[in-house]
Amino acid sequence: MEGTDEQVSFGIDDLPVRDELRGKSPYGAPQLDVPVRLNTNENPYPLPEPLVERIAERVREAARGLNRYPDRDAVELRTELAKYLTRTGGHPVGVDNVWAANGSNEVIQQLLQTFGGPGRTAIGFEPSYSMHALIARSTGTGWISGPRGEDFTIDLAAAEKAIAEHRPDVVFVTTPNNPTGNAVPRETVLALYEAAQAARPSMVIVDEAYVEFSHGASLLPLLDGRPNLVVSRTMSKAFGAAGLRLGYLAAHPAVVDAVQLVRLPYHLSAITQATALAALEHTDTLLGYVEQLKSERDRLVAELRATGYEVTASDANFIQFGRFEDSHTAWQRILDRGVLVRDNGVPGWLRVTAGTPEENDAFLDAVRELKKEQEQSG
Ligand SMILES: *Cc1c(COP(=O)(O)O)cnc(C)c1O
Repeated sequence: MEGTDEQVSFGIDDLPVRDELRGKSPYGAPQLDVPVRLNTNENPYPLPEPLVERIAERVREAARGLNRYPDRDAVELRTELAKYLTRTGGHPVGVDNVWAANGSNEVIQQLLQTFGGPGRTAIGFEPSYSMHALIARSTGTGWISGPRGEDFTIDLAAAEKAIAEHRPDVVFVTTPNNPTGNAVPRETVLALYEAAQAARPSMVIVDEAYVEFSHGASLLPLLDGRPNLVVSRTMSKAFGAAGLRLGYLAAHPAVVDAVQLVRLPYHLSAITQATALAALEHTDTLLGYVEQLKSERDRLVAELRATGYEVTASDANFIQFGRFEDSHTAWQRILDRGVLVRDNGVPGWLRVTAGTPEENDAFLDAVRELKKEQEQSG
């Protein structure tokens, strides 16, 4: 539709939007059409054909009941997620401990609507997952940017000091961390939990979006005796189902009761529930891809180091590498060679997602050429 002059000259700033949204930009990893896309930590493997068939079957069944609202409590799905967590997480989890929503971003939004909000604050240790701060803002929760060390680990003393000083209502710990890739040691998370309880007490949200790719174990066992701890998970990464939009959490049943105060009724469509259930039937196949990706990740780390790049130790399906005098120019040079990586705004560093062996080879060729170019000009 052609805009009239009036429509063209009228923008967001002319609308009575909330003050804290003024001048801000929406989340926006570029979705560019280039041959090799390694910028959003997706799983590069399409779902296997038998799973595609099973999804079609379960969705067909669900379609017959679409005249009705879906199961509001998603009991069957939460039961299967609980079984998956129990089997892989080293800790018994029941349906009452699990809640699911449209992506873990929605899980986090519901948590902040429940435990954050106007007059309250949340802290994260940055650089970390940018959506934590963005969702804090959109829920009216004050955001505190906590410190991280030079090597991107959480400096426990500095973090404890920040918690004691700001007394946040919500503490985010992303492990493995995005965009840096490193996992947070169990003892650090425990100490942060203690600090957060001493300060307020507050909720501690452990974002384990990438835990299936980790060398170490899930922190699910920490839920034992810690009702203010939440572990959030997603099917977007390890399950290779970013397009499905299914995230979930494990916590004390009281937390599951609490988030139901803010969730929209029937928030998880019958189609989403059916699709996620089909994917969970194929967990073993999907986790097989995770093993391949882990070995590709380790190969990328070794090759990047051999080429002369610095790499942050990675427990995820992506790698932070550098250093660059100007990471945005380096990002563009790599893109010029047909490979899209991510500039997360961490000065000197870029992030690449582990793709298929062919995609990774294309990426390695591009960064080797870039290194040569830089050595010649330097
Ligand atoms: C990708 C990612 C998520 C996943 O978000 P979804 O909404 O489930 O797709 C959550 N946390 C972190 C740290 C991530 O990188």
